[in-house]
Amino acid sequence: MSFESLGLSAPVLQAVAEKGYTTPTLIQEKAIPICLMGRDVLGCAQTGTGKTASFVLPMIDILSEGRAKARMPRSLILEPTRELAAQVAENFEIYGKYHKLNMALLIGGVSFPDQERALERGADVLIATPGRLLDHFERGGILLNDVKILVIDEADRMLDMGFIPDVERIVATLPPLRQTLFFSATMPPEIKRLADRFLSNPKEVTVSAPASASKNIVQGLAVVPEEDKREALRALIKEQDIKNAIVFCNRKKDVAILQGSLKKHGFNAGALHGDMSQPARMETLEKFKQGEIQILVASDVAARGLDIVAMSHVFNFDVPFSPEDYVHRIGRTGRAGLTGHSFTLASPDEGGLVEAIEKLIGTEIPRVEVPGIQTVAFEASDGRRRGRGRGRSSSSSGTRSRSSSSSSRPPREPRPDVEVRPEREARPEREARPEREARPPREPRAERPPRQPRPEREPRPEREVRPEREARPEREARPPRERRPERSDRPRQDRRDRDDTPAPMGLGDHVPAFLARPTR
Ligand code: AMP
Repeated sequence: MSFESLGLSAPVLQAVAEKGYTTPTLIQEKAIPICLMGRDVLGCAQTGTGKTASFVLPMIDILSEGRAKARMPRSLILEPTRELAAQVAENFEIYGKYHKLNMALLIGGVSFPDQERALERGADVLIATPGRLLDHFERGGILLNDVKILVIDEADRMLDMGFIPDVERIVATLPPLRQTLFFSATMPPEIKRLADRFLSNPKEVTVSAPASASKNIVQGLAVVPEEDKREALRALIKEQDIKNAIVFCNRKKDVAILQGSLKKHGFNAGALHGDMSQPARMETLEKFKQGEIQILVASDVAARGLDIVAMSHVFNFDVPFSPEDYVHRIGRTGRAGLTGHSFTLASPDEGGLVEAIEKLIGTEIPRVEVPGIQTVAFEASDGRRRGRGRGRSSSSSGTRSRSSSSSSRPPREPRPDVEVRPEREARPEREARPEREARPPREPRAERPPRQPRPEREPRPEREVRPEREARPEREARPPRERRPERSDRPRQDRRDRDDTPAPMGLGDHVPAFLARPTR
């Protein structure tokens, strides 16, 4: 199938051709004609499938008619992370270069006034992370009544990051008569229920089995003592023919430590995690994309959707806590038909996590040995080693495959030193936010079965923060409203003033004038 047969306009086809795309990917082939018909889409597709263009290209054509009014965007794209939002904005610029569409990007960590100016100009396309969008909305800087197209991207990631209540609030303010395009890499029941509520008679488009690892990725896993992991990583980096690589850590503090260690050993390494300022994150990412940084040590903030052209390697310095994160991490390589490599360094107590990943991807990750590093076995749940370690490897000619002994591995023991995502219920900071009170009532969920606790998450009460939480500093960064006197004439302020005045009770609409008079 060709792009020409999808029904896109000549200027969009021209931009696509100049980008160098000759044939549409499967998701583009399936989703673009449906979008152009104005129908809702429920897309189950991972990043790397060409998903972004599958909604950006038709949106450009649909929005080419008409103009946006000040502070009233005509379309809205919600992304879970700032990086993804910025990436979608880049796509709009590339594919929309022959159209005069105004775009506004609302992400945290960037100054409000610039974003307010972009809204003031009138945005045909608004790309936002949920937190920052609500901040603007609550300041009265934006009206969403004119949104005709809504895109919710990476819905399962939004769920993981705790953004669904924000997304529900946002969707409640949108006109019910709109086109909604809803994408998720996986479709767990919670996401499906959300899609049922947001979408109207959608066309379902699925392009790959949920949570499957790309066939273009050559995977390997080495079980090594925790204290040997850094040395093992250096050995692997030296041994492999690396163009560029991401090294994922589970903890933010390890990102900085590992980057420092790699630099000390002469590697060209940068760091990316959610505690960094947004400009620093963007700068690091840009340097990595341009090849100025060869090895990017990162937390899971970089796991989803980041599109680095032809990335050759992914290393998991830790086994990710969630099996889905493994798929997303290694999915940064092996993109656009190229072969990629992923290596995971597991410590003896990470057997349970590896087992969960292998169950999800439906295959065993081939075991490899790292030259010069002792290969050990996973611990049994009572802390004893199962099977025999192989001692310091005698191999000096590169990683060697070995057969695995993991198949009957029991779940791992809790590790007191690890910070990780708490159970979903444990979100004290969300209750603490005053704006939560204003959340519109949820639809009844009587049909929802009681949530079963996930067995692998239960035994970790001591862990504090899951890595994705990093992506939310923008809400804390909001300047206090009192410091914005120029906004005092805005409707929100009026509302608050009204709410502060107690109304006389018990008289219905017929309040005598003397009672309505304010008293000191
Ligand atoms: P995405 O899934 O949107 O993150 O896209 C993954 C990668 O595929 C990006 O680098 C896109 O530029 C690229 N891509 C998207 N559509 C096509 C296409 N039709 N042909 C070749 N590459 C594409």
